[in-house]
Amino acid sequence: MEPKDIDSLVRPNILALEPYSTARDEYSGGSLGVFLDANESPYENGVNRYPDPHQKMLKSRISEIKGIGGANIFLGNGSDEAIDIVFRVFCTPGRDKAIAISPSYGMYKVASATNDIALEQICLNEDWSLPVDRILEAAGENVKVIFLCSPNNPTGNAFPREDILRIVDGFRGIVVVDEAYADFSSLGSLAAEACTKGNLIVLQTLSKAWGMAGLRIGMAFACERVIGLMSRVKYPYNINVAAQTQALRMLRMDTPFTEEIISERTRLAGALTDLRCIVHVWPSDANFLLVRTTDADGIYAFLTSRGIIVRNRSHVPMCGGCLRITVGLKEENDKLLEALKEYEESHLC
Ligand SMILES: *Cc1c(COP(=O)(O)O)cnc(C)c1O
Repeated sequence: MEPKDIDSLVRPNILALEPYSTARDEYSGGSLGVFLDANESPYENGVNRYPDPHQKMLKSRISEIKGIGGANIFLGNGSDEAIDIVFRVFCTPGRDKAIAISPSYGMYKVASATNDIALEQICLNEDWSLPVDRILEAAGENVKVIFLCSPNNPTGNAFPREDILRIVDGFRGIVVVDEAYADFSSLGSLAAEACTKGNLIVLQTLSKAWGMAGLRIGMAFACERVIGLMSRVKYPYNINVAAQTQALRMLRMDTPFTEEIISERTRLAGALTDLRCIVHVWPSDANFLLVRTTDADGIYAFLTSRGIIVRNRSHVPMCGGCLRITVGLKEENDKLLEALKEYEESHLC
């Protein structure tokens, strides 16, 4: 879909919206001005001024790192804000519908429910591959958005680009591809495609590989028109001063620990495979492993009693017996492996 055709998908009230503007939008002289426009305190303490609503400096650094134009970047209070805003821009409550894959990330369901949008969840194939034809068949009238997640949480696999692009090209609505774990995958990103295809929005985050989950900064990459629409719906000051400043500093100074996590992922997967209480370890393009166990609830409770918290996914569709384990530090992964051996000894499995 061409960017120029996007307006036909947007809720009429959002198209008509006059976004909140700040007086400082009309001033470009940096911090030298005398600011008597926003009823802030004049006493400097580092946070007495409102944050930049356009996050220009942060976007410019992200633009360098990702090779994506600043006008193609939206920043949200976590990707979770971007997910919510996609619903609010494109889906009329009580009328429009959305599609997500299952099993997948829980926020698509929560955000659809809070926006009163019916969400149809389509099961992945048994081998966790993308059911492209079933998704396109389900994408009937009033389906405005399809949520894909690649690498997918909790299954850990990334979908081939051709499969995702078949959905993008075959659907006359918005496709959101959540790439929270793309840094850990060899299949790469669709962020560049999102800038030219009107109906593709790619989500990434500073929460995972970059280690800034506590700052709450999510990114959306899309054509300028879509980014403009998302920006007019967000709260003007959605990323606070402390988060913008610290993220900028870390994006200038730090490099993510991607290599370390990937090599621990390989080691941990091998060690888990050797355990009797672990029936299957799926390959992972992310910073976690999905494993099928002999008794997910029992093992989960045992690990918790040893102070080790994993994610029990055994009650999620297609994930019977499954736990999702984040790859931690070597010492932490070793503690997990020790505890699982202890479980095996005490449970005769
Ligand atoms: C962790 C995760 C996110 C990150 O959300 P933030 O709000 O940016 O922290 C997004 N999508 C998926 C699938 C995730 O697993």
